[in-house]
Amino acid sequence: MHEIENRNNFKEGDVRVCSNHRLLCSCGQNYANILFKDHVLHPMVINNLYCPECSTNVQVDFECMLVDNGWILEFNLALACGFLQRSNISSTKVNPAFIFDNGYASWNGITPDELEHRLTERKEIIELAHKDMRQYLAEIRRWGCERMKRFREAGWRKAQYC
Ligand SMILES: [Zn+2]
Repeated sequence: MHEIENRNNFKEGDVRVCSNHRLLCSCGQNYANILFKDHVLHPMVINNLYCPECSTNVQVDFECMLVDNGWILEFNLALACGFLQRSNISSTKVNPAFIFDNGYASWNGITPDELEHRLTERKEIIELAHKDMRQYLAEIRRWGCERMKRFREAGWRKAQYC
């Protein structure tokens, strides 16, 4: 959880920082925020991105696709392997789960659009800090737990193991 939060802190001058990439899905109706950990992979390793609207017509191929709650990330695995080797990251099983779960190409947050929601939701709580610090701390803790529970119940992959 903390690790994910930290990835959003953009440090200027640090070339290996993770920056957010906002990618449009195949039907053009939805965006996903994607992070590429340490810039090991380039956004071009994502061949296609499908939102729940456009993924319904997709024939899922688990060899190159990661399915998460209606969203599909389709990778160019050969290209991804090349980038990983160049960074001396060797693994016997470079597959979509390896890439996603290790954060080499993964949602920025728990879900594709969590980033925007998180900032808006948190802004409301942060305003409490000016009025009542104790209540603010309790609120932000409660908020963190509840939303993670919500994501886990909704079936999001990244919420399952945190
Ligand atoms: Zn779409």
